[in-house]
Amino acid sequence: MAKLVFKYGVMGSGKTLSLLKEAYNYEKVGKSVVTFAPEKDDRNGVGVIKTSSGWKRDAIVIGENSSVKDYIINLETKPDAIFVDEAQFFKEEQIFDLAWIANTMNIPVFCYGLLTDFRCELFEGSKALTKCASQIITETTVCECGSDAVVNMRVIDGTVVTEGDQLAIGNVGSMYYPVCHTCYKKYCSGEKKLPQRFMKTS
Ligand SMILES: [Zn+2]
Repeated sequence: MAKLVFKYGVMGSGKTLSLLKEAYNYEKVGKSVVTFAPEKDDRNGVGVIKTSSGWKRDAIVIGENSSVKDYIINLETKPDAIFVDEAQFFKEEQIFDLAWIANTMNIPVFCYGLLTDFRCELFEGSKALTKCASQIITETTVCECGSDAVVNMRVIDGTVVTEGDQLAIGNVGSMYYPVCHTCYKKYCSGEKKLPQRFMKTS
């Protein structure tokens, strides 16, 4: 029985870099990997996993109705490991299928993604992973105050937003700023002011 690992962290915590490094580690010892990415994540073009520093690799695109289970079952040669980018955007059923693959096909599955959105609510895929992952690992990055950043604070045109669509990846004018929960509350109440670089530029 293989493991299902969920590595989560806020934006900019190095999750994608970690995925690419781990996948490469498998390949350099002659093992094969399959990488999945959700259709929703189109920042780099559909089916490409890419870090801000330019590292990238191709991925199998999984749409809302795609079956990761069928995809793996139908492969003539089974992979030695499966890597999943932006796992928060997967449907609950797809995550449960990944757990099934790890548990019954004995293929380790490594999922990377966000735990919560800018409203501090769990994403569907992340919530499902908290139910079935055998190992959950936090990738941390630091808040400006020195605590661990856990909130993906959304800033649009210099204003912190706490309501709206969960999905705003690639939205023009929308930025994310990783902060600890205390700083997040202070920004929401106005006690803390946003750094200059988040102010509206025209
Ligand atoms: Zn803080």
